[in-house]
Amino acid sequence: MIPVANPKAQYLAHKEEIDEAIERVLQSGWYILGQEVKSFELEFAAYIGVKHCIGVGSGTEALHLALRACGVGSGDEVISVSHTAVATVTAIELAGADPVFVDIDRDTYTMAPEGLKRAITPRTKAIIPVHIYGHPAAMDEILAIAREQSIFVIEDCAQAHGALYKGKKVGSFGDMACFSFYPTKNLGALGDGGAVVTDNKDLGEKAVLLREYGWAKRYISHFSGLNTRLDEIQAAILRVKLTYLDRDNMARSNLALLYYKGLADLDLVLPKVREGCTHVFHLFVVRSTNRDDLLTKLRAQGVGVSVHYPLPVHLQPAYKKFARDLPNTELVAREILSLPMYPELSDTQVIRVINMVEELFHG
Ligand SMILES: *Cc1c(COP(=O)(O)O)cnc(C)c1O
Repeated sequence: MIPVANPKAQYLAHKEEIDEAIERVLQSGWYILGQEVKSFELEFAAYIGVKHCIGVGSGTEALHLALRACGVGSGDEVISVSHTAVATVTAIELAGADPVFVDIDRDTYTMAPEGLKRAITPRTKAIIPVHIYGHPAAMDEILAIAREQSIFVIEDCAQAHGALYKGKKVGSFGDMACFSFYPTKNLGALGDGGAVVTDNKDLGEKAVLLREYGWAKRYISHFSGLNTRLDEIQAAILRVKLTYLDRDNMARSNLALLYYKGLADLDLVLPKVREGCTHVFHLFVVRSTNRDDLLTKLRAQGVGVSVHYPLPVHLQPAYKKFARDLPNTELVAREILSLPMYPELSDTQVIRVINMVEELFHG
């Protein structure tokens, strides 16, 4: 069995250091918002190249908190994509706003700037581009449109830790940016976790207060806030894993090269990388008009293939009221297939997957 992702393999790869980090927290007697979270926030901000990082409970809460910090609330509209983890949309609803979906471009599966311009209304307060699968969205175009109208841009970086757009890390472009540390992400904890990053001092300070009940001083709320904290154990684990992130992303990228070479001659659409972008291959997603057949047959042979995501958000029962005409989103959802991809996957395993796929095409 070759799984699509394998967080346990990553734990085992760094077991000694991670066990030591956990033990250090257990022995410290301090479990919430202490030295580990503080240190991780500094280290992660430095890694992304921004001034402020605020550790929170999950990626969904990071987006919710960022929206709240930007003043988004009831009656506002937030533009994003339907081709994303439903979490992006959950966060918009948690903030009390209405999601407005725009289509994606068919090459990178990220927000199409052309559609974005048409979707803006007087109620638009923020735009959330998603760097899906580890490929950066078209930030120059998106930022230019947003700046023209004074709309906030909040990057959803949950799948793109370490990805580069024109030489700079994603997460350093928007007014704020949000990360998830769900165990399978490129930087994953061993439980839930997330972070909001920003270069803007006011937004950063607002986010710190919002994280814990709107407290400036303990027990005195200055405005209504949330409770969404990264815990000390997860922060200590993340500090270990952050030191391996670039190496892990490189391992993903080398495995991707094997897939590109091995699958080049088959009737499959392979991931495209836009010029000036560094893809970090959170997922290796191919497209086939025969997707369902491939999925069934590969699973039967013990390959943990998956679909991210089978039903676009605007077609899901909970979100039909926000439906729009999104032809690329719907076409892509019918054809995509995620092949196994994680840093500890071996070349041999990838070649085995390639051979199975080849067999299915050529018999
Ligand atoms: C994982 C993910 C999230 C949510 O993160 P959680 O930590 O699971 O709440 C948000 N957006 C995208 C694109 C994701 O992949």
